[in-house]
Amino acid sequence: MRLTDKRTEEVINQVVGEDVLKVVGLLKGKKDVSEFKMAGQLKLDIQAVRNMLYRLHNHNLVTYKRKKDRKKGWYISYWTFNKNRVKELIGDLKKQKLEHFRQRLETESANVNNFFICPKACTRMDFHSAAQFNFKCPECGAVMQQQDNAKTIDFLKEKIREIESEAAVV
Ligand SMILES: [Zn+2]
Repeated sequence: MRLTDKRTEEVINQVVGEDVLKVVGLLKGKKDVSEFKMAGQLKLDIQAVRNMLYRLHNHNLVTYKRKKDRKKGWYISYWTFNKNRVKELIGDLKKQKLEHFRQRLETESANVNNFFICPKACTRMDFHSAAQFNFKCPECGAVMQQQDNAKTIDFLKEKIREIESEAAVV
């Protein structure tokens, strides 16, 4: 799978936040971009731009060089987008998702047909928890019903297969 702009934006949005995408847009395909130049282009305060850059830096998505501006006498940072880090993050997110679904599958498989659900769907819990509530929904008081979770197990297995078969991003 090729790393597309869309995929890059999705991952950054998920990990850092949507607001930083405008900064990433200015960094892409370039090197050593002045933070003051970006602030000017985005019509934003330098502190607002730096805040977004630091947040990207927290996830190693950007690198920077500091240089003293001889005329103005202050330091300016020049930023470069770290595209390879996006690929790593995609791998990390995939691992997290897999772990999440595997844990859910483990719980469901350990409690086959042993889940209880409110007829109004407010709550769903295992036998042990349902017994503590005398099989009455703690939200609305309706009698909870035993649920066949075979479909949930199939869904989770399918989901895991799907994530496992996703091609790595290169
Ligand atoms: Zn209920």
